[in-house]
Amino acid sequence: TKLGVALVGLGEYATGELIPALKLTQNCHLAGLVSGEEEKLRKWQQECGLKDDSLYTYDDFDRIADNPDIDIVYVVLPNAMHEEYCIRAARAGKHIISEKPLATSVEECYRIRDAVAEANVRFSMGYRLHFDPFNQEMMRLGQKEVFGPVQKMELLDSMDIGNNTPWRVDEERSGSGPLVNNGIYCIQAAIYITGKLPIAVEARFAPVTKPELFKEVEEGVIWTMFFEGGTTAHCETSYSKNQNFMRAEGTEGWFELNPAYEYGGLAGRTSSGAMDIEPVNQQARQMDDFARCIMENSETCVPLEMGIRDMRIIEAVYESARLGQRVALDLEEFAALPE
Ligand code: NAD
Repeated sequence: TKLGVALVGLGEYATGELIPALKLTQNCHLAGLVSGEEEKLRKWQQECGLKDDSLYTYDDFDRIADNPDIDIVYVVLPNAMHEEYCIRAARAGKHIISEKPLATSVEECYRIRDAVAEANVRFSMGYRLHFDPFNQEMMRLGQKEVFGPVQKMELLDSMDIGNNTPWRVDEERSGSGPLVNNGIYCIQAAIYITGKLPIAVEARFAPVTKPELFKEVEEGVIWTMFFEGGTTAHCETSYSKNQNFMRAEGTEGWFELNPAYEYGGLAGRTSSGAMDIEPVNQQARQMDDFARCIMENSETCVPLEMGIRDMRIIEAVYESARLGQRVALDLEEFAALPE
């Protein structure tokens, strides 16, 4: 059997990546669409061959509770809407995948956690890179100390957004700027390369070069993550340039991805030569893995707590940038998370 997935929000990521990926999955399939626009719903219904009773608007979304063909609700809305739709999905008794960031504050994350616990449903973050073989190789090389213990990392994820996605520069819908949308991948990578949690961060905002666009959210952030034993990760994220790079230096060599965080076309090298890795469809693997976890009643490697952990780090990075000083982190409660 295959589990049914309903996509909430039919924007670029849902239609450009998730719908095509759901044609490649083995453990789940597209079973529902939720959108505010009738025209979009009809277009994608036809394209995907769905029945009329698989379509929902935001207003009648809660009726999804009565649809036994839908097992998983995948929230692919602007960040500030994640909380509301994750909670409504939980109350409808559906398992949930949330796109990153989990929400726009730790407070919101806790409310999602409570609703999920109360409804006793399963939850996964949409952290696709945990299922990408290039990033998995970075995890292996780092955590197994193949090039000795990692001492230094350089993690850059920036995207020139131009004027195309207004919600991203709108604090009310996005929460904040590139740190929550792109920089979150650097935070993730620093942890999955080392298998360790940061103990402090030090950050500053990048200078604003486009004041007309960045009135509400930051244009860029530059920060360092500190780990026990002196390991550091230099990180950078921006909305006005393109950077896509991940590098780790151990005591006996280095390993890197360039590009590192894209959906495809990743390439990896180490101090001993090129990585020889077959690319996969990250999103198909990610959704298949969660469907398998639900069917087998096993733990996902990208649980809700990981989304909360990352939001805790994000808030510390912003606090450090605002205060202009180092901010310590106590993430002990997340120590048992899978990496
Ligand atoms: P998008 O702007 O293309 O899509 C957003 C969708 O939400 C649109 O269909 C829009 O109609 C709908 N929507 C409903 N209410 C809205 C409102 N009040 N304002 C704006 N849009 C509204 O954005 P996207 O790039 O598809 O991003 C959606 C989510 O997916 C975000 O949380 C983002 O962080 C995440 N995302 C993840 C990845 C990834 O690689 N995992 C990539 C891109 C986006």
